[in-house]
Amino acid sequence: MPSSTFREPPQLPVAFTQTPSSLLDDTKKAIATSRATLDDLVKIPPSEATFANFVLPWIHDRNTRMKTSSLTTLFKSVSPSEELRDAAVECVKVWAEFSQEVVARPEIYVLFQAVKDKGEALDREDQYYLDRKLSQLVRSGAALPEGPVKERFQIVTKRIDDIEAEGGKRIRQENGGIWFTADELDGFPRDALEGLKRGEGEDDGKYKVTFGTVDLDLAFKNCVKAETRKRMFFGNENKCLENVPLFQEMIELRAEHAELLGYKSHADLVIQNRLMTMDGVTSLLADLQQKTAPASKSSRDMLRKLKREHLLSRGITETDIDDRLFLWDQLFYMRLVEEQENELDQNKIAEFFPLQEVVDGLLKNFETLFGVVFIEILEDARKSLMEKQGHGVSAMTWHEDVAVYAVWNEEALGGDFLGYLYLDVLKRQGKRDHACCITFQPGFDTIEGGRQYPSALLVMSVQQPTPAKPTLVRHRSVTTMFHELGHAIHCLVGRTRYAETYGTKTSRDFVEIPSRMLENFCWDPIILQNLSKHYSHLSPGYMASWKAEHPTEPEPSEKAPFDLLQKLCASRKVTLAPLTQRQIAFAKFDMAIHSVSSEEAKAMNAGETYNRIRSECTSLLGPEIEVGDFGWGSGHSRFSHMFGGYDAGYYTYVIASVYSSDLYRSRFAKDPMNGEEGRRYRKLVLGRGGSRAEMELLEEYLGRKPNGDAFAKAIGG
Ligand SMILES: [Zn+2]
Repeated sequence: MPSSTFREPPQLPVAFTQTPSSLLDDTKKAIATSRATLDDLVKIPPSEATFANFVLPWIHDRNTRMKTSSLTTLFKSVSPSEELRDAAVECVKVWAEFSQEVVARPEIYVLFQAVKDKGEALDREDQYYLDRKLSQLVRSGAALPEGPVKERFQIVTKRIDDIEAEGGKRIRQENGGIWFTADELDGFPRDALEGLKRGEGEDDGKYKVTFGTVDLDLAFKNCVKAETRKRMFFGNENKCLENVPLFQEMIELRAEHAELLGYKSHADLVIQNRLMTMDGVTSLLADLQQKTAPASKSSRDMLRKLKREHLLSRGITETDIDDRLFLWDQLFYMRLVEEQENELDQNKIAEFFPLQEVVDGLLKNFETLFGVVFIEILEDARKSLMEKQGHGVSAMTWHEDVAVYAVWNEEALGGDFLGYLYLDVLKRQGKRDHACCITFQPGFDTIEGGRQYPSALLVMSVQQPTPAKPTLVRHRSVTTMFHELGHAIHCLVGRTRYAETYGTKTSRDFVEIPSRMLENFCWDPIILQNLSKHYSHLSPGYMASWKAEHPTEPEPSEKAPFDLLQKLCASRKVTLAPLTQRQIAFAKFDMAIHSVSSEEAKAMNAGETYNRIRSECTSLLGPEIEVGDFGWGSGHSRFSHMFGGYDAGYYTYVIASVYSSDLYRSRFAKDPMNGEEGRRYRKLVLGRGGSRAEMELLEEYLGRKPNGDAFAKAIGG
């Protein structure tokens, strides 16, 4: 049995004492060291370059550089201090400039090519690293000869980086919203309403619903008045209008950037060395659009019927009823379907999922599946770990809400240390409001032959607790939490030698597959019931406040009723096809704007394209029926994935649904918590990170090529 007492890990955790100037200083120092190392390396004559004397020192430099860059840039997403967030954004820019500087050094490419030409016998991880690096260098312009093309290339690249940073920052920091009266917010969950900002002056008595994902989701799902949902929808689509011209410039420059390298389009350039090919993506999206169409149509028919009944029940006469489905209707009526057809009330279900119970339960699942052990680092241990570094206990994290765990292998797997897991899940101002996982310290073998252990962080933005209730996690957020923790585990169990191939450093269209696979576990009623514990059973105080709120109802059971969870899991079918179509729409938009030439990009109206494609794929109506065209909104300008990271890569989410379904159904569905299968998956897939071609990982694990059969079945049958 794993020990639950604290043991001091072989590596102390990061101390959070950074200031805006120290972040920039650390960045500059690390860059200066790296520059000096590279200055030495490029002195090697190409004829003498080998893996050992050139590539390996290069890798060690990359390892330490990534260690500093991932920490200095972390603050932009989580720091409570605006100055630190701004400094971190500045660091992102400085790091990007240095990356450009490195690839702009012609000797680097020449030396890598020289090592490749030498044809040394390398092990698989090294060979793969070398091949990938060379391809990356070619695509980043390193093989371009000196001259006007290269000069233009550098200007374009720099400008794209700047736009991505500026646009992304604007989206992250956007904190607008709309003031509504309580009447306009009819249906908005009461506990969440209490957490909203209250207005003063002319907004006296009103509540501010922000455009953050949590508030938006609550409003779309719960606000009974269509006008309220419509205003939220329209406001959200148009909240980042300053990004519109930047977006246009960005797609034109990306196309030009690809052309300068000899590619037809940005997508053509990006989709190299990936799980999928360009043709593969196009046919996958078309195929899925077709396969999801019948189920999506019947889902819409059901929602329209429900809308009609709902409006009739609200006193609207038969002749006045407009039962067409709008973009701001879908989530609301999906929730009603869940509740009415399946008697599901997500708020009631959430009462069975208090935050701490969910966290403990999910971590326990990882322990069972993958043979890892989580030990929470509490006050005394925090004090001692920080004292050893000469700091007070507050240096342990960037905010007092953050929990930290030491992660170990179970004894049967050697009992060795794996790294640190940080959880920062409560909502607060200035923190990014959508869930994600950030590895702010990579894992790698050090130059001295030791191990640098990783630190992975789960960021979420769930409601703060109130005196009457702990934070309750809705099912959707339970799923998100398991998904994002999955990314963290991918990093923590990584066994590759280099930071660049570590954990989730896989190709973009592979990285979501393992986490999406885990989401399936949250649609299994047995697993959900194990996780559940009604909050009223946590303390006499909570029981008293629950009873005060529900004076006539019988005391709730401790565990969520099994039939309720079965209905919840069955309800996934109603939403799967339409939500997949939404993903297909975003993926098609991404491919539409990124598979054009620079000339074609100039003629493109991205906002219109965004609205038109979404309408075509989802068959949901928007303001175009009133204004006559698709130019009514600029939702693309708040589409953060397009500002770097998932450009020509949004299809990743779609492929992740398809292949993760295959993995789960063929290996886990029958016995989800089978630790033997989990450990095999950990070893063959997760532990290998990005150290070999991802298709090979999947084929070896499955014993065949992955396919879409399981997903088609999940949608249709
Ligand atoms: Zn993910």
